[in-house]
Amino acid sequence: MSPRTVLVSGASVAGPTLAYWLERSGVSTTVIERFPELRSGGQSVDLRGAGRTVVQRMGIEDAVRAAGTGETGLQFVDSRGKIKAQFGSDTMDGEGPTAELEILRGDLGKILYDHTRDRTEYVFGDSITGIDDDGDRVRVSFEHSADRDFDIVVLAEGLRSRTRSMVFGDDVSIRDLGMYTSYFTIPRVESDTQWAQWSNAPGSRSVLLRPDNVGTTRATLSFMTDPKGYETLTVDDQKDVLRRTFSDAPFAARALAGLTDTPDFYFESLGQVTMSTWSKGRVVLLGDAGYCASPISGMGTSLATVGAYVLAGEIASHDDHRDAFTAYESIMRPYVDQAQKLASGAPRVANPKTKLGVATMNAVLGLASRIKITSLFGKFASPPSDKIDLPNYAVPIT
Ligand SMILES: Cc1cc2nc3c(=O)[nH]c(=O)nc-3n(C[C@H](O)[C@H](O)[C@H](O)COP(=O)(O)OP(=O)(O)OC[C@H]3O[C@@H](n4cnc5c(N)ncnc54)[C@H](O)[C@@H]3O)c2cc1C
Repeated sequence: MSPRTVLVSGASVAGPTLAYWLERSGVSTTVIERFPELRSGGQSVDLRGAGRTVVQRMGIEDAVRAAGTGETGLQFVDSRGKIKAQFGSDTMDGEGPTAELEILRGDLGKILYDHTRDRTEYVFGDSITGIDDDGDRVRVSFEHSADRDFDIVVLAEGLRSRTRSMVFGDDVSIRDLGMYTSYFTIPRVESDTQWAQWSNAPGSRSVLLRPDNVGTTRATLSFMTDPKGYETLTVDDQKDVLRRTFSDAPFAARALAGLTDTPDFYFESLGQVTMSTWSKGRVVLLGDAGYCASPISGMGTSLATVGAYVLAGEIASHDDHRDAFTAYESIMRPYVDQAQKLASGAPRVANPKTKLGVATMNAVLGLASRIKITSLFGKFASPPSDKIDLPNYAVPIT
């Protein structure tokens, strides 16, 4: 018999999107999130190609568009903020650094939650502590709730998913990209425009300031280094790392000034999840937990929404979960492989080590933007986002 009950762990982008499509095909879905409430925070994420098609099919494209950040494009600036190059959101037909649909991650999560909360059971402030898959069903234990049985468990817990290790053990594979990134909100100042501004500093450091739609500015500080375990530090210690790392970078001054009082702070060590298989028994991986391509790819949200659509469609189309997971993986793998192929030399190429490297990069980008050779910009652009034949599932509305 086809699966009737599904537990999804993680309520960000992938989890609620999956819940939407599962509920439409009559599968009873529970979404569990370890945070006590829907997580806000993060910067603008973009929906490209097939990801945009999925939100169209969900009927939420207008809501996503209305909540857009209104970012005009990306400017590269020097350490004093002087513009060296700029690329509008129409660059490379919307496949450039600013996509046509840019929305704050928290706003997208809220739209998806609002769109599913009536039909989906959401449990906040809880997480999985044990999984016992006996072949016929999965018995799940939780930190707070009583044990329950499900036909399928989907892990949509992001790059550092803990439950994934519980199930896949040593088979978890993450490629470290040698880069730390932090996202946080700072006050907007009068000189801020609707352009995002990116400034490189020697030592493979970068500052990105982006407009949002709520009157503040979103800051990203990134730097390359060998793995140092910073992602496991406390938030205060992570902020100190940033203060030390960016103290001599003039363009970072505003971001550093806003660091203490920022209402949100998210710090991560960038990596790509490269699992040899996305399922084990009745447990399956979705979104970043299964195939994170990293923010450098610009594809995280598109992979999560497309993956959710395909996984739900295949679960609804097969009686046996094994056939559903095989079909899901064979449709998604080529798309994921492409998304994980970063531009040659990335992220190093976009984060020069020396002052001369930074100046050269700005000069090359300046030339590319002036004579509109956007292929030169290809080193920083996203992989093709529409290179997948999105199946048309005959999903009944129950
Ligand atoms: C707070 C936050 C801010 C982000 N900011 C950006 C950004 O600025 N730019 C960018 O490109 N990408 C950002 N991302 C990543 C981006 O959301 C994803 O790359 C993409 O949208 C795919 O989403 P996902 O749902 O697969 O995973 P994620 O968005 O990573 O979501 C995973 C969810 O699972 C929850 N979770 C984790 N472990 C457990 C557990 N054990 N039990 C239950 N729930 C669990 C997390 O709290 C989170 O809500 C951010 C993610 C988060 C969580």
